[in-house]
Amino acid sequence: MSPISVSQVQSSGNSRGVNQSGRTAIAVESGQIPPLLGASLAELTEWVQQQGQPAYRGKQLYQWIYEKGVRSISDISVFSKQWRETVANISIGRSTIHYRSVAPDATVKYLLKLADGQIIETVGIPTEKRLTVCVSAQVGCAMGCDFCATGKGGFKRNLAKHEIVDQVLTVQQDFGRRVSHIVFMGMGEPLLNSDNVVAAVKCLNQDVGIGQRNITISTVGIRNRIRQLAEHHLQVTLAVSLHASNQRLREQLIPSARPYPLDELVAECKEYVQSTRRRLSFEYVLLAGVNDLPEHASELASHLRGFQCHVNLIPYNPIQEADYKRPTPNRINGFVSALKEKKIAVSVRYSRGLEADAACGQLRASEV
Ligand code: SAH
Ligand code: SF4
Repeated sequence: MSPISVSQVQSSGNSRGVNQSGRTAIAVESGQIPPLLGASLAELTEWVQQQGQPAYRGKQLYQWIYEKGVRSISDISVFSKQWRETVANISIGRSTIHYRSVAPDATVKYLLKLADGQIIETVGIPTEKRLTVCVSAQVGCAMGCDFCATGKGGFKRNLAKHEIVDQVLTVQQDFGRRVSHIVFMGMGEPLLNSDNVVAAVKCLNQDVGIGQRNITISTVGIRNRIRQLAEHHLQVTLAVSLHASNQRLREQLIPSARPYPLDELVAECKEYVQSTRRRLSFEYVLLAGVNDLPEHASELASHLRGFQCHVNLIPYNPIQEADYKRPTPNRINGFVSALKEKKIAVSVRYSRGLEADAACGQLRASEV
């Protein structure tokens, strides 16, 4: 539970107003220029040209932002000192590492401080072949799931595109190794921030170089949002947090599920698979005595009959704010067998990073 190391990194200041045309992602109507992180090569090139610089400076800026992970324009040594001074207070949009904690299994939890002082959590999960980043999509979460630390803390705001991309670059730089996989399983509900999440996925794919197929978006299921996500034709994997085998139990665990019946959610998921031809998995947190009985498994199987999907069982990770218990291994195995008997593809996913409070559901932006 105790932190092994704490590091502080400087980031650049706030963005400032400049005259812009309003055509690219960088140019904005308000006169405020958003951070450069998140912009494409074409957008950065257009921006440097608007600043009276030659086009090739755009490529350089792009490389320094995405490959070298520069935090401030004043550190870009290939630019003239004079121009660096002129644009020194244009923000790249990087966060600072406020706190860093390493679990015995080498999972690293970060508390990242954003430009407005808000704190979010990001987790780096290394294996020999992979480096996965668990990213947050919002500061806090409005969905209020009863077993989730983030849900207990309430909602603050959505994350901007650059704040999502920054999390991945931060982990990549800290590990000194390329990130291979991304899961939107940190703080917040991605589909309540769809525009920024989709924009971040595209940037992570095109500009950071992470295959869309290695990106998973996890959602608790918001009516029509899965349908809308399909319209973006992304190659990502969708994970839907079900957690219950009937609507009554689901509402008990996920208060925000009240207006969206389980049957309708499953129907929207089937539609998503048909239209995207992408894989979909269901997440199911196993809570002892609550949703882990054989009858729950049968009921769950009846909802998923004939549906090409995968069920990930996540044994509950304890949080202070709730008194659920993790089921015994016997109970977990029983649930697995009951699903397998009904021909449902299933696996058990033990979360990494438990000792650093970095496992699924344990994320809260606690100050240290
Ligand atoms: N809001 C999205 C994504 C973030 S939560 C969602 O709910 O899907 C990521 C995953 O962690 C979800 O499947 C969620 O149900 C699970 N989770 C939350 N609290 C947990 C806990 N205490 N133990 C285990 N998994 C938990
Ligand atoms: Fe929000 Fe997901 Fe936590 Fe529910 S489980 S409160 S949707 S982050």
